[in-house]
Amino acid sequence: MKALVYHGPGKKSWEEKPKPGINKPTDAIVKILKTTICGTDLHIMKGDLPDVTEGRIIGHEGVGIVEETGTAVSNFKKGEHVIISCITSCGKCEFCKKGMYSHCEDGGWILGNLIDGCQAEYVRIPYADNSLYHIPAGADEEALVMLSDILPTGFECGVLNGQVKPGDTLAIIGAGPIGMAALLTSQFYTPAEIIVIDTDENRLAVAKTFGATHTINNTDGKAEEAVMKITNGKGVDVAIEAVGVSATFELCEAIIGAGGHIANIGVHGKSVTLHMETLWSRNITITTRLVDTITTPMLFKTVQSKKLEPKKLITHHFKLDQIVEAYETFGNAAKEKALKVILTNE
Ligand SMILES: [Zn+2]
Ligand SMILES: [Zn+2]
Repeated sequence: MKALVYHGPGKKSWEEKPKPGINKPTDAIVKILKTTICGTDLHIMKGDLPDVTEGRIIGHEGVGIVEETGTAVSNFKKGEHVIISCITSCGKCEFCKKGMYSHCEDGGWILGNLIDGCQAEYVRIPYADNSLYHIPAGADEEALVMLSDILPTGFECGVLNGQVKPGDTLAIIGAGPIGMAALLTSQFYTPAEIIVIDTDENRLAVAKTFGATHTINNTDGKAEEAVMKITNGKGVDVAIEAVGVSATFELCEAIIGAGGHIANIGVHGKSVTLHMETLWSRNITITTRLVDTITTPMLFKTVQSKKLEPKKLITHHFKLDQIVEAYETFGNAAKEKALKVILTNE
């Protein structure tokens, strides 16, 4: 089969690899129908995630058809269409029993990281019963790719951890796919104001169409002043960080109001500055989280009922064998006006 293989920082190729087989009775082999590229994959390509070794097939989001199942898989059969979760979970260990699938003792985020992923024609999914989700006939499978990672990530790490409530003033820093997923799912809770901050004017314009009440272009570095003006100097109730660098986290610290929540989503490669000199007395809660994907079934229902329309996030389409070109487009997101790219295995 063909797959996108990581060959060290800056190096990748679409090349021939052996088709995966069943290793354990709990495995399933899935033929990929549609997959996408994540911001995390760009971090991998830069060499930011040293656990990803040379020769690894990357990718952790997609939908497909079950090709083969191990003898212990009871929930899925050959020929069924499935959503692949970015998180692998055994369903039995201490963390899984707490709903903290991200820290499964034999899983977590391993797909396209510690084991071969789904930017390929076929992928092996461990603990298939717990790590795949059924797709009913007639569903919009392209939209469901957004359920593999970005919707549960934006919702769980941003909206739920940030405890967004009706009437809140919410700021989302970073209008990439994850920030947009937080923007879409935050509206389940009807915040009064949603301020989206980025430096890309196109993404800010898109955020407006997705429900942002205010957008701030922070190219001039004056977002803090702008937020304070909007909030009459009080700051926001919830600040969601969806970039993953110190400057954007410090912006959250600067704009958070008393009693507020800072919910981090960003993947941080470096330390950030914690301004305890201003935060210590302000009743602030700071949260971090890796997505558990426990809300995937709930989010699936909201997509099926069109309460949530993640298809809006898809800006580009490629065939799976054009994946190197798709990386170019996604890697130049501002110039290409790219959010999510869909790769179809034809
Ligand atoms: Zn992802
Ligand atoms: Zn587990």
